[in-house]
Amino acid sequence: RAKADGRNRFHFFDTSLDAAARRRNLIEQELRAAVAARSLTLHFQPLVDSGSGRIICAEALLRWHHPTLGTISPTEFIPIAEDIGLIEKIGAWAIREGCITAASWPQPIRIAVNLSPRQFAGTGLYAGIADALRDSGMPPARLELEVTESLLLKTNALVESTLVAITALGVRVALDDFGTGYSSLSYLRKYRFDKLKIDQSFISDIETNADSRAIVDAIIRLGHDLGMSVAAEGVETEAQYDILRRLGCGEIQGYLVGRPMPGDELEKILTNAREPGVIRQIA
Ligand code: C2E
Ligand code: MG
Ligand code: MG
Ligand code: MG
Repeated sequence: RAKADGRNRFHFFDTSLDAAARRRNLIEQELRAAVAARSLTLHFQPLVDSGSGRIICAEALLRWHHPTLGTISPTEFIPIAEDIGLIEKIGAWAIREGCITAASWPQPIRIAVNLSPRQFAGTGLYAGIADALRDSGMPPARLELEVTESLLLKTNALVESTLVAITALGVRVALDDFGTGYSSLSYLRKYRFDKLKIDQSFISDIETNADSRAIVDAIIRLGHDLGMSVAAEGVETEAQYDILRRLGCGEIQGYLVGRPMPGDELEKILTNAREPGVIRQIA
């Protein structure tokens, strides 16, 4: 145990490593308990049609509020869930819950659910999707599954056959966070995606950085030329929205049009009698 004299920098590193390991153990333990107690929830963030401003889709995002630790970000607990083998269960629940929630909404908008690469490991994913669709009554075409480029990094027959089977169900598949990390375009020839979601890192400086604008322009053309729809994530300003609309980006997601919110809040917006499904800056 480090003495509190700060004399030796190794003590400092030991202590902070300790703290990180302790946090990690705590999150592991509490996450198991939270899953058992069914205390994870979903929030829903709207995607709008860039031309009409109308909501056409909502992305389901996991939320975990812990009674003493407070709100824990999915960017912290999802990698841990993947490591300890909990993501299959959590992910299957998210698909099911997302479908059930969206099936009760007053407009037939799509529901988008994120998939972790780990969910492709067994044979449970396809069955979980088919069950969720059957039990919720959601038309398959209203379900969109978001995968990231990391899923396609290595050739994997199981991943490919699962993607083909999911598509055969009529479910849409979107490539999330497009343009980050692995940047190999070869997988766009191997598998036909329904949608590209441009990563928010390209959107944030689109007003000031001509290079970002050129990249986004190219991604939108590429997507359309390959028959995909294109969405931009992380849109926070009117100027970003206008540029994206002018470049032909069909779908907009971001704090400008709506933050992730509980399902009943989104349902109220969809029910709004004057302009159902149209929102502006409710952030
Ligand atoms: P993602 O799928 O790329 O989701 C978008 C993230 O960007 C969300 O963060 C969302 O709240 C945030 N965001 C949306 N609009 C804006 C904006 O205008 N500005 C900024 N700065 N951020 C914005 P969140 O909810 O913290 O989720 C983070 C990541 O966790 C997600 O990134 C996704 O990779 C993962 N995740 C969330 N729910 C699930 C899930 O059910 N399953 C899996 N496998 N991953 C999930
Ligand atoms: Mg996503
Ligand atoms: Mg994303
Ligand atoms: Mg992202």
